[in-house]
Amino acid sequence: MLWFTEYYGGEGMELSATGLTVKAKSARYKKTPFQELLLLESEDWGKVLVLDGAIQTTERDEFIYHEMIVHPAFFTFTRPIERVLVIGGGDGGTVREVLKHRPEEVVMVEIDREVVETAIKELPSISKGLKDKRVKLLFEDGREFVRGKEAEFDAIIVDCSDPIGPSKVLYQEEFYRDCFKALKEDGIFITQSESPFAQNRVHRQVVRELSKVFPIVRPYLAFIPTYPSGMWSFTIASKRLDPLGVAPSALGKLYKEFVEKEGELRYYNPEIHYGAFAIPNFVYREEQNGNT
Ligand code: SAM
Repeated sequence: MLWFTEYYGGEGMELSATGLTVKAKSARYKKTPFQELLLLESEDWGKVLVLDGAIQTTERDEFIYHEMIVHPAFFTFTRPIERVLVIGGGDGGTVREVLKHRPEEVVMVEIDREVVETAIKELPSISKGLKDKRVKLLFEDGREFVRGKEAEFDAIIVDCSDPIGPSKVLYQEEFYRDCFKALKEDGIFITQSESPFAQNRVHRQVVRELSKVFPIVRPYLAFIPTYPSGMWSFTIASKRLDPLGVAPSALGKLYKEFVEKEGELRYYNPEIHYGAFAIPNFVYREEQNGNT
């Protein structure tokens, strides 16, 4: 195995052929009934949550992922948001951002209670929303929870891990069909959709499967330093509302009102809202030799 390390500050990023190494000062390991959980204390990235060997979130760059999985879709609504479903999301970062849009209720269905307990204890800046009285926490399989639901949610967010282990069922057409039914008639579905560079095949599969179910499917990008290749994607799938159909003047007004109530966000803004949907040619034109 050939390792290359680029050093900067007190940290080195070792890029191997398969992934990325973040140097840590301490590590705590736990085997839960669903996955291997590792909590690292690093020099430059704060605490790092790892599940089944994949970095899930770091205190330093988590804001990018959690802002971008929520705000592009939520600023597409021009009406109050009542009920939101988050599937996965064990660290609580997605719920924290959803609450900024003042929903009536957020149901978070997380299969692994130990991830939530670890996040509440070790990652308070990320998990702080989980204690909010509008949040209903259920510890069960999100695949089973959504089965049979009809027109209950304004938004469904799939904040899952890679398609290995318990997340595998959250990448299938049948699951997307159940989410379609569980959404209201103008509901929006959002999922993290892997790296178009490092996991091009899986990314294209998510977009393809969603396109079989929803009339509007919009992949978009964000830069996440501690994820494979740094180029990350999410995909919005919608029955009627199109994130690119929001007029800049309306979005500007919505964002200004939001900032007055909740303060500036650290990554998302109206320019990012439109720019994130610009996808490079190679993503859907060439077969990538990504590792999955
Ligand atoms: N929010 C993190 C980030 O910044 O990328 C990563 C996602 S979060 C840690 C992924 C969660 O999905 C894990 O806590 C895992 O237990 C949960 N999960 C995986 N499969 C699931 C399923 N079928 N139903 C509910 N939760 C699931």
